[in-house]
Amino acid sequence: MYGDIFSRIKEAIPMQAVAVRYGFEVNRAGYMLCPFHNDSQPSLHVYDGTRGWWCFVCNEGGSVIDFVAKLFQLNARQAAIRIDNNFHLGLSTERPDNREIDRWKQEQAKKQAELNVFRADYNDKCREALTIRSLPKPPPSSPLWGQYAALLGKLDYLDNYFFTETKWK
Ligand SMILES: [Zn+2]
Repeated sequence: MYGDIFSRIKEAIPMQAVAVRYGFEVNRAGYMLCPFHNDSQPSLHVYDGTRGWWCFVCNEGGSVIDFVAKLFQLNARQAAIRIDNNFHLGLSTERPDNREIDRWKQEQAKKQAELNVFRADYNDKCREALTIRSLPKPPPSSPLWGQYAALLGKLDYLDNYFFTETKWK
């Protein structure tokens, strides 16, 4: 029975509509930011009509059901019920399980909070490096030299470790 619902959803609902329904922006070339990896340039291709999607970084793709299942961490059946419900297709009498969505929302909020912390720290370190670079160099005989040398050590760490190993997210 669900096999039938799966195929009817796949025939009825374009990936473009699913992307828009769940808050993604598809650019003119048909690409959107992939929610399954840290994407900064849209690398998930939304194919025309009902031909699904493919992420060229994850090397993964599939149908609208695969997308919704992966996005909300649902099994295929729950994903189909959700699409059926959200697009008012009336294929199933079951209601989507909102606990799954609540869990997903909590995870999204947690990820966003972690990202904000990361970005704040990254920005602080950028500002710190900039400040150290702009400091006037005291002569080695100056009592300020020790402090300055310590800051240069910090700058060295930032340039050679932090900024080379840590990518802006
Ligand atoms: Zn991806």
